[in-house]
Amino acid sequence: MYWEKDIETMDRGKLEALQLSRLKETLEKAGKSPYYTKVFKDCGLDVHQINTLEDVEKLPLTTKDDLREQWPYGFLACGKEDLVRMHSSSGTTGRAIVVFHTKNDIDQWTNLLARSMYMTGMRKSDVFQNLMTYGLFTGGLGFHYGAEKLGALVIPASAGNSKRQIQLMIDFDTTYIHIIPSYALHLTSVFEEMKVDPRKDTKIKGAFVGAEPHSEKMRLIIEDFYGFKAYNSYGLSEMCGPGVAFECPCQNGLHVWEDNFIMEIIDPVSLRRVPDGEEGELVMTTLLREGMPIIRYRTRDLTRIIPGPCECGRTHRRIERIKGRSDDMIIIKGVNIFPIQIERKLMGIPGVGTNYLIILEREDFNDTMIVKVEVQKEFFLGNLKQLENLRRRIVEELKSDILITPKVDLVGPDSLDKSEGKAVRVKDNRKD
Ligand code: ADP
Ligand code: ZN
Repeated sequence: MYWEKDIETMDRGKLEALQLSRLKETLEKAGKSPYYTKVFKDCGLDVHQINTLEDVEKLPLTTKDDLREQWPYGFLACGKEDLVRMHSSSGTTGRAIVVFHTKNDIDQWTNLLARSMYMTGMRKSDVFQNLMTYGLFTGGLGFHYGAEKLGALVIPASAGNSKRQIQLMIDFDTTYIHIIPSYALHLTSVFEEMKVDPRKDTKIKGAFVGAEPHSEKMRLIIEDFYGFKAYNSYGLSEMCGPGVAFECPCQNGLHVWEDNFIMEIIDPVSLRRVPDGEEGELVMTTLLREGMPIIRYRTRDLTRIIPGPCECGRTHRRIERIKGRSDDMIIIKGVNIFPIQIERKLMGIPGVGTNYLIILEREDFNDTMIVKVEVQKEFFLGNLKQLENLRRRIVEELKSDILITPKVDLVGPDSLDKSEGKAVRVKDNRKD
């Protein structure tokens, strides 16, 4: 049941000692990059003063803007001749950043993905279909190499072309898939259109869903429609890509692979560490990176550490599913709202379809929120009164959670734009 039992179940004392020795090596390596040479000098940091894991807090934080400003090579800690691959972030919140890998970096990353997939039950005899975009995006090649290392038969289907995806699943007896959750929901209507029942007509046992925030409700809807288990997969290009944290069969939080990363949760305002269990921003340090070590990276992803051991026996601590990025927070009429709060409510209401969009408008200094909600076909074609009741119910349920009254527009199934990559949930048309 373990890919690497010694590492996955290592006692905490030993694991922390391993982290500390790897941290020291990382600081030595990072100190060779133009960026960290300057930063360490500016803050008068002697890396030999870092002697415990608590000392990590003395190290400077790194932000996405730092990475953007150092474009393209400022973070390189090795010669260019030692690099074998470049990837890039998706650019969800602005200009994308680039990340370089040595051969060893790729091997470590690949191993983390093999370990993660093995943890959920995927084996050599499985057929793995990767529905993520191949190319600069880490979700394609990252999982591809990981599944090959595990020994599975890999179908590099890439994103889009929904009918062909389904045909591939049927023809080649796909047993595991990697898919963006919003796309998994969209695909349900294509299955229906093709009159294919994934529970009966495919052999899929498990899915790895990630790359974007999604609620537990959305996971349950996906699991219910397809009849498989959907394991949450978290990662970011700055650390490697997917394979940073992954759900085990207990599906109660994601194990962060602490032999490869140091994780901290900080208060995004005071920037101080918060105790295990409290929500804050996830900060990560690479421990085995050669090409581009990154120290205390502010992910901007909000989560908390789930205190206590996991029943699966792994000792690497777990984080709760990501609530969203701090950048995703909507501030309207002085109220702070995360799109996932809206999703959680919507997905619990019978009749609601698979997609939604939040639009923010400003008129005469007055902010309004419009929530466009796709409705299931039966409802949409049903009588008007029923539709109006549904609309009212959505308004009431949202209001009870987000405390402001949104305008709700019901739209037909599949009428909202969908992207092949990460879903766009918010359109802010307010001009300052
Ligand atoms: P970008 O930051 O431009 O989107 P990446 O492709 O590197 O570039 O995406 C990493 C980000 O995607 C994470 O920082 C996080 O915000 C989001 N993400 C990845 N996996 C998950 C997940 N399982 N749940 C929620 N958010 C996720
Ligand atoms: Zn576990």
